[in-house]
Amino acid sequence: MAKPTTTSKSLIIIGGSWGGISLSHYLLKHVLPHLNKTSPSSYELILISSSTEAFCRPACPRALISDSLLPQDKLFVSIPSLFTQYSPPSTFRFLHATATSLNTSSRTLTITSHSPSPHEPTITTLPYHALVIATGASTPSPLLGLSSGIDTTSLRASWASFRAALPSAKRIVISGGGPSGVEVAGELAEHLNGAMPRSWLSLPPARTDPKVEIVLVTAAKRILPDLRESLAQRAETYLAALGVKVVKGVRVEGVVPSGKGEGVVLKLGSGERMEADLYVPCVGTTPNTGFVEDKGLLGEDGRVVTNEGTLRVDKVGGEGRVYAIGDASNFAKPGVHNTLSAVPVLGTNMKKDLAGGQGEDKIFVEDTRETQLVPIGRSKGVGAMKGWWLPSCAVWLIKGRDYWLWTTGDVWSGKAWAKE
Ligand SMILES: Cc1cc2nc3c(=O)[nH]c(=O)nc-3n(C[C@H](O)[C@H](O)[C@H](O)COP(=O)(O)OP(=O)(O)OC[C@H]3O[C@@H](n4cnc5c(N)ncnc54)[C@H](O)[C@@H]3O)c2cc1C
Repeated sequence: MAKPTTTSKSLIIIGGSWGGISLSHYLLKHVLPHLNKTSPSSYELILISSSTEAFCRPACPRALISDSLLPQDKLFVSIPSLFTQYSPPSTFRFLHATATSLNTSSRTLTITSHSPSPHEPTITTLPYHALVIATGASTPSPLLGLSSGIDTTSLRASWASFRAALPSAKRIVISGGGPSGVEVAGELAEHLNGAMPRSWLSLPPARTDPKVEIVLVTAAKRILPDLRESLAQRAETYLAALGVKVVKGVRVEGVVPSGKGEGVVLKLGSGERMEADLYVPCVGTTPNTGFVEDKGLLGEDGRVVTNEGTLRVDKVGGEGRVYAIGDASNFAKPGVHNTLSAVPVLGTNMKKDLAGGQGEDKIFVEDTRETQLVPIGRSKGVGAMKGWWLPSCAVWLIKGRDYWLWTTGDVWSGKAWAKE
């Protein structure tokens, strides 16, 4: 790991995903050139991430099944290669490391390097001039993304063991009736039980003889609580047509290994026990904020308490120059659309703070209209956008076709942030 230069002021961004990569591009395009105009290289940007690859997490429900289902070169993209376009190169550094301790009093971040060189320490403490927390959130299942400290090699290894167990699985249980649970159930069902029967004029009939029993268990009274009831019902119809059984109002309260391969025994809130050859928990996320020393900066849900309009972490104070974006922050509901919409707001407010505080703040306003797209298998889906119901074919076109991979190129490369 290269030593931090002592002459530059470091702007540190932690987390190499939607929030961190996007903001890095925004600052390198629109803020650092402005700050470094009078005194070249007075500021440098350091992006720190546990993984060297950017990864389209929303694609997990399909990607975890087989490498042949989605283009791998779009799914995983090397982070350092995205930033070779900026000059001088001294203004940007990528560190493959995990943040382990943030001290906002001493204004230092301690990191553990994953690519230490023989001459550099594994653990380093970096001073920062400004710092952005963009470390996202972890899922209970290792199949659904990059948890803190995890890289894409470990993610692929989790997929490999799951895939190896798939051919002999007779019953797969998924817990959680949100979009991830519904998508995982639909993708697995289509892969193992075959495509939904075509029915242009009516809804497809339920499959009665699935090869593999796929059970989606939710503690709630209905699936997809963020969508209107009629869309949740339609989602259940599509799931049934793929051979997925939906069990509502039952909580998974405990999980123990069954002793058979990847198998588990689930203890259900109803008092029953259910065996599963494979189990995928899709029940919520935990923010990757354990490294924040001052727990007063975190809300009850573990997310960084962030000013929802400016994205500053106000509790650190104005001169503290600490910010948060993405799923690690409580500025808005977790989701890619909110994170991407907030990037120019945060970039502009950081520019203002770093340049001496003149001018107006830019304010983020969350669009709270019903917006969620949920593919169900490879041909159907339910969803709404900005309060408008979308037909199944539109959900397929926008998301179900390739799980957003048609959109990620411009985000990762920075083209999406060409305009200030
Ligand atoms: C299965 C699934 C499907 C989803 N589908 C959708 C969807 O269709 N639409 C949508 O809007 N949202 C979706 N989401 C939510 C979406 O993935 C998140 O909102 C988005 O990934 C958040 O981006 P982020 O930049 O905040 O962090 P993340 O994408 O969570 O990435 C965080 C990054 O920080 C790194 N990191 C973590 N801790 C540390 C540390 N201590 N030090 C250094 N690096 C660290 C990680 O390695 C990772 O690279 C889905 C989520 C899941 C789990």
